[in-house]
Amino acid sequence: MANTIKVAIDGPSGAGKSSIAKAASKVLGFVYVDTGALYRTVALNALRKGADPKNAEQVIATLENLKVTLGFVEGTQHVYLNGEDVSDKIRTPEISMGASAASAIPEVRKFLFNLQREIADANNCIMDGRDIGTVVLPDAKVKIFLTASPEIRAERRYKELCEKGTETTFEEVLADVKQRDYNDSHREIAPLKATEESVIVDTTELDLEQSIQAVIAVIEEKMH
Ligand code: C5P
Repeated sequence: MANTIKVAIDGPSGAGKSSIAKAASKVLGFVYVDTGALYRTVALNALRKGADPKNAEQVIATLENLKVTLGFVEGTQHVYLNGEDVSDKIRTPEISMGASAASAIPEVRKFLFNLQREIADANNCIMDGRDIGTVVLPDAKVKIFLTASPEIRAERRYKELCEKGTETTFEEVLADVKQRDYNDSHREIAPLKATEESVIVDTTELDLEQSIQAVIAVIEEKMH
């Protein structure tokens, strides 16, 4: 199925990409692919093996026997590290930072590239990440750059972490958000940026439902 419909959604962390993309996929009947989970899994594996995610040589060594796969259970994405379902274990602040560092390593991006491409060639999908419109799916029919102010993104992430019982403060989360924004948009390889064809959707003033509607409207308009 080479002629699948590909929707790329890129943007900084906490812009609401995953909740919005997930809901929009359900409405459109597309597969939702969260590529951040792949980078998080590489980071989890590296940390488990005692590697420093900032140390390219150490991280590259951990890729050798690593198999990262995605599965979809009742429409929900699960990510597997050598067969182990790590979907929940990758959602910690430590792994967020680790993923941000490891994702700047070209070999890590190369390692995950084919997997992302194969999924998009096999399914109509909405794929979210940082370089989907620029690098992974430059041929995507729809490209959306989803953004919001750092403060509102930190507020949303902080609430999510509190609900999960993670101990943190708003200030810590805001500092993390800003640090990751900086890392993601200043790295040499595949930096986070909108393309010329990207439609910018700013969710600072929108609630979740309004954001979902805004994204669906862009997709429907571009598809017709
Ligand atoms: O989206 P999420 O916060 O789960 O992504 C974790 C980290 O993985 C990001 O901070 C980013 O550095 C990296 N990432 C990336 N390219 C993608 C998706 C995520 O570099 N396509």
